[in-house]
Amino acid sequence: MCGIVGYLGNGNAYDVLIKGLHRLEYRGYDSAGIAMVSPAGKLNVFKAKGKVENLETLCKDKDTNATIGIAHTRWATHGEPSDTNAHPHYSEDGELALVHNGTIENYKLLRDVLEEHGCTFHSETDTEVLVQLIEYIKVKNNCSLLDAVREALHQVVGAYAIAVIEKNNPDTIVAARQSSPLVIGIGEDDTFLASDATPFVEYTQNAVYLKDGEIAVIQRGEPLKIFDLDNCESKIDVKTLELTISQLEKGGYPSFMLKEIFEQPTTLRECIRGRVVDGGRKILLNGVLDNKEVFKNAKRIVIVACGTSWHASLIGKYLIQEMCHIPVEVEYASEFRYSCPVLTKDDIVIALSQSGETADTLAAVKIARDMGAFVFGISNAVGSSIPRETDSGAYIHVGPEIGVASTKAFTGQVMVLTILALAIAELRESMPQEKVAELGKHLLEIPELVEHVLKLDEEVKRLSLIYTYARNFLYLGRGYNYPVALEGALKLKEISYIHAEGYPAAEMKHGPIALIDAEMPSVIIAPQDHLYEKIVSNVQQVKARGGSIIAIVTEGDSVIRNIADHVLEIPEVPECLSPIITSIPLQLLSYYIAVNKGKNVDMPRNLAKSVTVE
Ligand code: GLU
Repeated sequence: MCGIVGYLGNGNAYDVLIKGLHRLEYRGYDSAGIAMVSPAGKLNVFKAKGKVENLETLCKDKDTNATIGIAHTRWATHGEPSDTNAHPHYSEDGELALVHNGTIENYKLLRDVLEEHGCTFHSETDTEVLVQLIEYIKVKNNCSLLDAVREALHQVVGAYAIAVIEKNNPDTIVAARQSSPLVIGIGEDDTFLASDATPFVEYTQNAVYLKDGEIAVIQRGEPLKIFDLDNCESKIDVKTLELTISQLEKGGYPSFMLKEIFEQPTTLRECIRGRVVDGGRKILLNGVLDNKEVFKNAKRIVIVACGTSWHASLIGKYLIQEMCHIPVEVEYASEFRYSCPVLTKDDIVIALSQSGETADTLAAVKIARDMGAFVFGISNAVGSSIPRETDSGAYIHVGPEIGVASTKAFTGQVMVLTILALAIAELRESMPQEKVAELGKHLLEIPELVEHVLKLDEEVKRLSLIYTYARNFLYLGRGYNYPVALEGALKLKEISYIHAEGYPAAEMKHGPIALIDAEMPSVIIAPQDHLYEKIVSNVQQVKARGGSIIAIVTEGDSVIRNIADHVLEIPEVPECLSPIITSIPLQLLSYYIAVNKGKNVDMPRNLAKSVTVE
């Protein structure tokens, strides 16, 4: 969600910034803009609604000569997407330009005060108060940009990542963060700034992740300096990026989403590597092994997440309850934080977020820690906020996920939750050792089974043609595959804009069955597990009402094959490990339906990859 890029160095700022904005497109945005100080001392600001290409067209005959600049892709929260509301925003006297990710909660109050002091506002955004306030303080106190930013941030309530440049000082960028991500790339002669490392990975592998409440001063010819809001200098902690440039390219696939679907055998192997060893007999999850007493004594686990991560969390609940006999609650992070949560030090809170930056999940983490619970984070982005704010955790190690609709991150999350459940079960001896080893062995086979299921590609493609113009879909599953039904429906909604509902199959009788007719296809996930007989009757109930059925069944199934209109066969797998396998054909189905409809699967409308605002 939203992207910030900044550059200060010897090269052409415009080229670096535009390329950087393209890299950040996957996060979702509705407008883009750029501000640069030219060698002649002009502050050039260009902004355009819509794609980064629109901004490039606008800049074609403009002065883009500069070695310093900031740029932004906006995901509107305050004020419609428009040229005027796009960032960068500038101060009334044209001295400062600023980009911002996040929301300023007390912007109205600040705006009223600034207007009383004679400031005129040009946009409807909350962001504009930041730049006007900084400039107001700078002039009033006759102070440096750093001092003015610090003073302004003391008055601001909300979430922000910001970068500011000055017309009269083409050698400095000041940046700061509170609850929104910002990372600085340190090259030999250039310094970069971005919402994540993707815009600068080809220039440097050295990154400094800014922490909440920190202000960075990037100064030409000087080492990076970081201060807190009390002006105490912080230690610079340079991390080496794990990211490579090839991970950010499509690698011959028509879209990132398809690439990521097909990457899953590899990403799942990466996720398991070093964690399930000795043929499956040993489970090594450091986040658990380093905190044995906590996991041995926990009385309850609460999982907080949003969107697809919430679906993975539901699977985690089934896994942990079955294997570890610990009660598990799964909460939407956005609801959890405002529900007066009751937590004790005997609780473990697990926070799941692909980006590690999801605003609501991060807020839930902070609440849980304040209440004394032990917090375990599961995320993909190394060095992101959630891993930093939690007591311990595990990365899913699936590499950057660029497609907005999550695929490989979902299966990676389910895999880590499975390993986590096994690790806890081993520790608490809640499952016989032989059973842990047997499941460990099956877990090692999962990447190969996923490879096998991906061979359904052509079949799903053909099937998708029949259903491209359906207006509604129902997804049904039971037990472990109920969350898979939710996730399948979400995938379809996200990229093809077809209304779809996921439901526990048995609940269908309590409402959704009324919707079923020849126009409403149902996708039923029905592998041969202990609820198989029950789901067969659900399949019959749908058929009896004239609904068409696509069923995901275990290879060799003959009962459902005779009732359903189409079956997609998956290999036999232990019930608790089935969600990773059953979700693959559903990813493909939503993908092909969206492609048939001509939709942009990588950047669906209105959606953002990581939701870094409330
Ligand atoms: N709240 C700001 C706006 O609406 C920033 C949104 C963003 O993060 O892109 O302009």
